[in-house]
Amino acid sequence: MILPWMPTPRCGFKMARSIYLDYQSSKPVDPRVIEAMRPWFYENFGNPSALHYIGDQATTMLEKSRSQVADSIHAKADEIVFTSGATEANNLAIIGYAMRNKNRGNHIIISEIEHISIINITKFLEKNGFKISRVPVDHFGMVNIDKIRERITDQTILVSIAYASNEVGTIQPITEIGKLCREKKIVLHSDAVAAVGLLPINVISDNVDLLSLSSNDIYGPKGTGALFIKEGLRLIPVIIGGGQENGLRSGTENLPGIAGMAKAAVIMQTEMENEVPKLIKFREKLINKIPRLIPKTYLNGHPTERLPNNAHFRFDGIEGEALLLSLKDKNIAVSTGSACSSKTLEPSHTLIAMGLLHEEAHGSLQLTCGRFTVEQDIDTLIDRLPAVVDRLRKLSPLYREA
Ligand code: PMP
Repeated sequence: MILPWMPTPRCGFKMARSIYLDYQSSKPVDPRVIEAMRPWFYENFGNPSALHYIGDQATTMLEKSRSQVADSIHAKADEIVFTSGATEANNLAIIGYAMRNKNRGNHIIISEIEHISIINITKFLEKNGFKISRVPVDHFGMVNIDKIRERITDQTILVSIAYASNEVGTIQPITEIGKLCREKKIVLHSDAVAAVGLLPINVISDNVDLLSLSSNDIYGPKGTGALFIKEGLRLIPVIIGGGQENGLRSGTENLPGIAGMAKAAVIMQTEMENEVPKLIKFREKLINKIPRLIPKTYLNGHPTERLPNNAHFRFDGIEGEALLLSLKDKNIAVSTGSACSSKTLEPSHTLIAMGLLHEEAHGSLQLTCGRFTVEQDIDTLIDRLPAVVDRLRKLSPLYREA
């Protein structure tokens, strides 16, 4: 199978090859995952709740998949609830935990740079009697544990901090935050969508109690995800019905999606070791070359504590959107920030929280590599970007060279 961002095949003709550097917003499903999903659409179409042999096959696969996804984060199988994605996992984690434990307290702590789903879930809870503290981040997008400690009260029941930023790629000190939460007997939730497959997640040594995953972020299908719920934690469901997933997520299980997510988790575990050094090499090439070739260009996010596949820049005097569209004309797909917030004209809340001015935030570009990126993609981007930035700056009333 040839995808537009895969290397040109060695055959008699040359295909036009587009370059895809937006792996944070969407990943192609790995062909091996598609193969693993295929039987669950037609031959093995059973409902795990049915008691006949077709239903039994489905139940066996469902439970095997649960173990495989659990293994990939060092959890136990019965600590995994399958959901329709990370948005739902975040809803179940935060609303499910907060509502079930409101007799113990009504205070939740998040950071200012959480994913839009976490922001909107906590706004919903705020309207329903909860108090939310939003801790600031530093110029690199890093959460300071002392700021969390300062805000903890005897009403605090939950802290939710993403494992790593899905925009600037800064990796948060989750293990230390988890240690603090354990000391204070507060539950820690982490949205690990941006980190999974890139960092070794271990829910035991990371001290997390709830952890959200999305299948597409490990090259599985969209519309599938999972929530890790540490044994013994009590949550209420946010989707109520026939009581599937141990009563925590009703609705007939998405078997092809779950089979795909499990296969993706198995592949991730075996291939991460080889994949991550390649991604770091590409990231470092981008980070070293782009600011040297293009004046007044700066790296956003942490210089070292960042995701292996993330390079995020700001360019003085131009709009990231104009840059994105100019690169689109050249068949190069990049991003200006989170795809989940791309329809708004507001600058990225992450960049603003990191202290960037509005115009700096608007002049930013996110480049994320992945499994099918090849070095030629990186070289082509590095080759073409300076002229594109230069042309836009010449047209820009905002840009002054001096
Ligand atoms: N959290 C983060 C950090 C994300 O980047 C995304 C989008 N991939 C989500 C949550 C929502 O995931 P989903 O689309 O699977 O609901």
